[in-house]
Amino acid sequence: AMAIGLTACGGEGAGAASGEAPAATAAPEELTIGVSMPTQTSERWIADGNAVKSQLEEAGYKVELQYANDDIPTQGQQIDQMLTQGADLLIVAAIDGTALSSQLQAAADANVKVISYDRLIRETENVDFYVSFDNFKVGVAQGTALLTGLGVLNADGSAGTATGPFNVELFAGSLDDNNAGFFFDGAMSVLQPKIDDGTLVVKSGQTSIEQAATLRWAQETAQKRMEDLLTGSYADGSKVQGVLSPYDGISRGIITALQGNGYTTPLPVVTGQDAEIASVKLINDGVQSSTIFKDTRELAAQAVTAAEAFLEGTEPEANDTETYDNGVKVVPSYLLPVETVYKADIQSKLIDSGYWTADEVAKGQ
Ligand code: BGC
Repeated sequence: AMAIGLTACGGEGAGAASGEAPAATAAPEELTIGVSMPTQTSERWIADGNAVKSQLEEAGYKVELQYANDDIPTQGQQIDQMLTQGADLLIVAAIDGTALSSQLQAAADANVKVISYDRLIRETENVDFYVSFDNFKVGVAQGTALLTGLGVLNADGSAGTATGPFNVELFAGSLDDNNAGFFFDGAMSVLQPKIDDGTLVVKSGQTSIEQAATLRWAQETAQKRMEDLLTGSYADGSKVQGVLSPYDGISRGIITALQGNGYTTPLPVVTGQDAEIASVKLINDGVQSSTIFKDTRELAAQAVTAAEAFLEGTEPEANDTETYDNGVKVVPSYLLPVETVYKADIQSKLIDSGYWTADEVAKGQ
């Protein structure tokens, strides 16, 4: 890859200001984009990586795609290597949103723009743009899906006939991922009033995000915590009726724990996120209640659009310039909408859109 920008001699390209790179003139074929993804253990990141890579290649760019096995030092090394090999732009979905500062400083020093992908990179000024979904709304949708599954709300959002009280437990994601707080806060914005009025009861008393968190979003960690909750708070024969889950892998851990504890279908209402195929099958089979569909193809397309803008020497178009304060600055963002999927929506939202085939849904893989 060739480096863009004539920084050393202070070239004054169109729109260049205070040491910024001048507008690039290199053709896409001469440019390499480093794409750093967190893990292959969750299918959504494989889909993201594939979609970003193929769409960048269609636009003519060379792509260096790496997955970091959810290991923070590995991700740092992979990004270091991308920079050493002359990457011209970086697209990064961080494992730990605060752990990449030295790599991103090196990127800034080399005039390499950084696009934060889905998860906000925090505590650095060296992040240039953020593409994601409306993460607070994801949480609102998850809380709403829990209430809908319990019958407290109807599918159209109106008040349902069920009044509870319902026993529920709460799960959150990995605290080093900026999204986890947005998901939990969004969910609690609809659940807390129902806890306050007695419709929902969290028997464990574990209602803070710290208590609900799941390091690295790990399925086994969630399964273990659910088992502990059942032993600790439901040994008196009472039943849990709903579980807020922020991610399909966590949902499957929760479901395994419930089944291992003697719960049979219909299981408690369990929410989710990402429309992973194993969970879509469980929803189709009436085991998991819902998931949140975030179309990774659309997110990849936004990342590519932003990358092209930077590499052509312009600024990508943001649709949110207020929400995502990373601790140092508000990062201009492009946020996509999300959709809740219950069993009745699998055909229209996931199969008709080509995200999954009917065959894949039937087999669960
Ligand atoms: C993503 C979610 C995903 C989670 C676990 C979050 O940052 O926004 O879509 O479920 O990470 O991988």
